[in-house]
Amino acid sequence: MHSSPFEFSSDNKRYHTLSYHFRSIFGHKLYKAAIDCGFTCPNADGTKGTGGCIFCDGGSGYFTRHGLSVTTQLDSERKRLNKKYGSVPIIAYFQANTNTYAPITELREKYLEAASCPDVAAISIGTRSDCLPDEVLELISDLNSRIPVTVELGMQTVHNETLRRINRCCDHEEFLEGYHRLKEKNIRVCLHIINGLPGETADMMLETAKEIATLHPDGVKLQMLHVIQGTRLADEYSSGSITLLSQEEYTDIIVRQLEILPPDTVIERITGDGDRRKLISPMWSADKKSVIAGIDKRLSELDTWQGRLYDNRRNSI
Ligand code: SF4
Repeated sequence: MHSSPFEFSSDNKRYHTLSYHFRSIFGHKLYKAAIDCGFTCPNADGTKGTGGCIFCDGGSGYFTRHGLSVTTQLDSERKRLNKKYGSVPIIAYFQANTNTYAPITELREKYLEAASCPDVAAISIGTRSDCLPDEVLELISDLNSRIPVTVELGMQTVHNETLRRINRCCDHEEFLEGYHRLKEKNIRVCLHIINGLPGETADMMLETAKEIATLHPDGVKLQMLHVIQGTRLADEYSSGSITLLSQEEYTDIIVRQLEILPPDTVIERITGDGDRRKLISPMWSADKKSVIAGIDKRLSELDTWQGRLYDNRRNSI
């Protein structure tokens, strides 16, 4: 059991914050610059499926456009960040779609271009577990020896029936294989999960958190299901067949998941980060400050914290 609520936070949070992680590793905060290389996804191009995951709008970079070079996109992102925060070190974030799903020569060229840009202190690569062939793993491993790399891996849920329901076209066993292959190469991994997927109860979401506790990843991104314009989920939602979490339900689930997770797993996101201009529901998620404040308040009221119920002798509760 873990007994210190503030061990991994310098800003009074009861969970292991990303800013604490950055400061302890790099000595300062880093800021993400989104890159959209115009890649596709095996779940959209017919290789494994068509139409993609039902909630997906391609995850395209909020501030960038594909068709532009990596350097041009990073220049534009640097200007945006400098205007807001002054001159800051950045993480080149290959964000849109599946960023290991392209010919190896193209991937190498894009990754190295990002690594050589001024102010780029680290690289993040968003992808799926079933898009990590040996040559891509070797490439990422080589990149990781030059610059810190994180692979952001979609897990979403531990439940295969939900993965089928959301048209993921990748089951949990395939996810596990990709995750372990990355860890064997000593690559930093941040898992993405979604709370409130269709058909899931709170207990099922806790089971997903327990699986993460067993895997003990470097980081995790937690968020709620969003309904975004133009997705298959939006059609289902308008037909009335989808029920979304209330803010209170989401807060309660997050608090219970945090208690289970290992204290040293960095919480890289604790609420949704979708494009507000395309958000259909839940509208409460658009007020991120209020969602985060509600989670902090609940943790404090219950006098609980990330890892309180984590038992590293069993790797789970
Ligand atoms: S795997 Fe990612 S990019 Fe592909 S359809 Fe699903 S959410 Fe979208």
